[in-house]
Amino acid sequence: MLGAHEIIKIWEIAISKPFWEKAILMLAPIYPSEPLNSLASLSLGQRNVRLFRLREQLFGTVMNANSACPECHEGVEFQLDSQVICDPNKVHAEQQQFSLALDESVLSFRLVNSYDLRDIAAIIEVEGPQSAEYELIHHCITAFDVNGVRQPTQSLPDDAIPALAQALKDNDPHCEIICRLTCPECSHNWPEPFDIVKFLWHELEAKAQIILSEVQLLAKAFGWWEADILSLSDVRRKFYLDGLNE
Ligand SMILES: [Zn+2]
Repeated sequence: MLGAHEIIKIWEIAISKPFWEKAILMLAPIYPSEPLNSLASLSLGQRNVRLFRLREQLFGTVMNANSACPECHEGVEFQLDSQVICDPNKVHAEQQQFSLALDESVLSFRLVNSYDLRDIAAIIEVEGPQSAEYELIHHCITAFDVNGVRQPTQSLPDDAIPALAQALKDNDPHCEIICRLTCPECSHNWPEPFDIVKFLWHELEAKAQIILSEVQLLAKAFGWWEADILSLSDVRRKFYLDGLNE
């Protein structure tokens, strides 16, 4: 369980980092025996399940999210439950390498991880977002054989990409969380992607800012040091704050 001190520390370290790295920095304190590069090498599905578990520890299982209808732009609120999303029957494979047979060719691939997101971000910056998914999928190909003969991965035909994109998702449960939403105004129904990294980061950031405001109030009122206030439990901090308002 993360205390006030750890929440502030994560926020302070990760605030200037891109989201792929924020995800790893949020996980690091609750997996202290795993180095950052192991966490960054987790498949996105495995990473997401861990982020949902962290979210449960900090804020519970129910998440209230919102979006807007793509047809009429009406605001839509929706609720998710991480215990439903992280279906224990969808088990992540232990293996690192997967294969996909297409006619005479066999593609070997690994799952997408956080380092791929980092590399893709650099490509998007240079080439724009259109090539991102194609590049991401290409990143994960480890071998391409036709009739048993190894081929350069650059020679992979473009029509193999959709099948590989599907195989990447099928072999990595929870890598993509899609909610089906219906607009209360116009009944339009659409798939809404849910990003646990951004959702949890915004919650953690809000929590960090509340804690710092509380530190400021208590430090002013009692002359206590920041470190001493942060070492108080939430219950004790709230008790002293309530005392200030009486
Ligand atoms: Zn609508």
